[in-house]
Amino acid sequence: MRYLSTRGHADRKRFCEILLEGLAPDGGLYLPEAYPQVDAAGLQRLRQAFNGGVPGGYAALAFEILSLYIDDIPAADLRALCEKTYTEAVFGTAAIVPLKPLEPGLSLEALSNGPTLAFKDMAMQLLGNLFEYELARRGEELNILGATSGDTGSAAEYAMRGKKGVRVFMLSPHGRMSPFQQAQMFSLQDPNIHNIAIEGVFDDCQDIVKAVSNDLDFKRRYQIGTVNSINWARLLAQVVYYFAGYFQATSDNAQRVSFTVPSGNFGNVCAGHVARQMGLPIATLVVATNENDVLDEFFRTGAYRVRGSADTHETSSPSMDISKASNFERFVFDLLGRDAARCKALFGDALSREGRFDLGADPVFADAAVRYGFRSGKSTHANRLQTIKDTFERFGVMIDTHTADGVKVAREHLQAGVPMVVLETALPIKFAATIVEALGREPERPAKFEGIEALPKRVQVMPADTARVQAYIAEHCPRA
Ligand SMILES: *Cc1c(COP(=O)(O)O)cnc(C)c1O
Repeated sequence: MRYLSTRGHADRKRFCEILLEGLAPDGGLYLPEAYPQVDAAGLQRLRQAFNGGVPGGYAALAFEILSLYIDDIPAADLRALCEKTYTEAVFGTAAIVPLKPLEPGLSLEALSNGPTLAFKDMAMQLLGNLFEYELARRGEELNILGATSGDTGSAAEYAMRGKKGVRVFMLSPHGRMSPFQQAQMFSLQDPNIHNIAIEGVFDDCQDIVKAVSNDLDFKRRYQIGTVNSINWARLLAQVVYYFAGYFQATSDNAQRVSFTVPSGNFGNVCAGHVARQMGLPIATLVVATNENDVLDEFFRTGAYRVRGSADTHETSSPSMDISKASNFERFVFDLLGRDAARCKALFGDALSREGRFDLGADPVFADAAVRYGFRSGKSTHANRLQTIKDTFERFGVMIDTHTADGVKVAREHLQAGVPMVVLETALPIKFAATIVEALGREPERPAKFEGIEALPKRVQVMPADTARVQAYIAEHCPRA
């Protein structure tokens, strides 16, 4: 298996070469040269590996699927990494991603029972183990520098804590995350995890990360890397739970299932696209957005229009507050029949020049729905509150704000005879204020998070100053 860039760079790379990388050298995203095909016998084998979610079933399924894409890690090692990652101790159930039925034909796939209570743990936990493995093999170290307003940073920290050869320097806007999110991150006492609270807003944090990454000397000297959502290994890990969801929603492989995915950067639903391209019988992939409806607009009209910061709303499903969808280029590359020159013209040229492109008049646009099965919809704050209330009153199930956007949009795309699975992307405790607004009561809190706000905090407060951050990193990297 070799990987190419969506913008046509001539290099072809293997999995471990792109594991620690972000963008391809030409600014494109990595994709496999071709999607491995799972035929009827293969699908049956995968169903047996998962085996209804028995202990070890999810890890076995993950190993089978990852093996189709990774040929530069010995099979026994890859299997051990999957087994170490997907355990009941870490994810709370033997099935790892159990389905929770709502009304007939509609269920939630529980992806949020990992250490930070959001679906990002599903991929990040594997990434932590893959990084540790590959860095040890190379005899290298990596310093992960990131900016977070919540979910990504905490998932990265919980994945990398205690890992050999890895340090994390995570910037967050001082005083702007929810008390629960701050407690989750700042209570980590592992010496390889560094929380840096920047006196500024999230954009200031991101600007510092960019400035440090653009300082090539510093970047090389201190082995600076990232773990953002365009990382191929993260996307690949997410493909697995589409198979697990499908097997749980069906009893034989002649049936089809649809998925609705609360979406921001298009990473999660892009993994569904990959699963469908491999041959998983997915009828429809429904993209659910909040008020930041860049993606809904595209799937309705063919116009992809990046929003300015004045046009990007702060919503009550904040992990979907995006101005552009960083993984979207992967899907458009496929939609264009893998025409890398056109992909480069759209994402490299048109977007940076005009902030938009429009495929509405292009014959390929119809393929998004007809050939690739995409639909979309949008949800607002009022919809979100109503859906949280309705789901709790009718089914006794408390859902978070992002999952509520998914449930609202899923109901607009139900098809008789096709089970609809909504991906549960976080637990309600992470977004307590909106739950209180919807239900008039505090959300349920998993036992292991009792009282975390009272734990001692490990965080360094700093002005929004790149040089100060660099000095801090230098001071904490003994080898460089
Ligand atoms: C990251 C996130 C999303 C959006 O996922 P993408 O892969 O960026 O589309 C949705 N919900 C929650 C809770 C998240 O943390």
